[in-house]
Amino acid sequence: MKLILDSENEWGFFVDPKTFDIFTIDNDIPDSSLVIVKEKEYIEDIDRTVIQTSYGIVDKNKFITKNKKEISKLMSEACSKFILARDTLPPKVKVEKELQEDKPAQLAFMLSNYDIFHLKISSTMLDGLNPFERIQDIIGNETQKLTLYDREDKWKIEYAKSSRATCKSCGLKIEKGTVRIGEPYYFDQYLNYRWHHEKCIFWSRLEIKQLENLEQLEKEDKKRIESYF
Ligand SMILES: [Zn+2]
Repeated sequence: MKLILDSENEWGFFVDPKTFDIFTIDNDIPDSSLVIVKEKEYIEDIDRTVIQTSYGIVDKNKFITKNKKEISKLMSEACSKFILARDTLPPKVKVEKELQEDKPAQLAFMLSNYDIFHLKISSTMLDGLNPFERIQDIIGNETQKLTLYDREDKWKIEYAKSSRATCKSCGLKIEKGTVRIGEPYYFDQYLNYRWHHEKCIFWSRLEIKQLENLEQLEKEDKKRIESYF
C-alpha cells in the first residue's frame, strides 16, 4: 500500500519483519510490514517542537494502528523467527539486559537513537529452545551489549526565539533575543532542553567542549561565554 505523508511535517519508516531491513515511507509498503510514522508539531505554550510517533502494521493492503507495546511484541516474534531461521541476531538488535538462565531474553531493536523497541524472547517463541543458551551461543564472547544513551549530549546555547520559556533555575522569563542555555535531558527517549539564563548557570559544572552552537553567537557574546571557562 502507499501511505501519503505531509512531506514537511511527517516522515517515517517501515521494517520488513523477515529481514529487519528498514525502508523510508516513500515506496509501497508490503503486507505485514511494521510501520513507524513521525510527526513534527510545534506547541506554542511550551515554545517547543515535539515529535509524535505512531505505529502500525500493513495487513491486506490496509494500515492498522498499533501501540508501541504491540509493535514491540510483533517485533519480538519476528526476531525469534529470524533467530530460528538464520542462527544470528537481526541487524540493529542487541542484548539489552544481561541474559539470565530460565528467563526470557531481553533484547532491543534500535531503529535510531530515538526509536528503541524492547523485545522479549521467550522459549515458546524459540520453539522450546532456551533463550539464554541460544542467544549466548550466538553472541559468544562478543560484546553485543547495547548501551542506551551512550552519546555525550551537548548543552545548547542560542538566542531565545521568544519570551515564552522560563528559566529552570530562577523561574523567571527568558527575554526574547537574550542568550539562553539548554540543558539536555531525555523525555520518552527524545532529546529535549531545559533552558536557563546565562547568569543562572553554574559555569564551573561545564566544559567548553560540552557547549553546542557557540560559534553561532555574536562575537561579543561568544567572547563573554568563553571567559567563564
Ligand atoms: Zn534564571
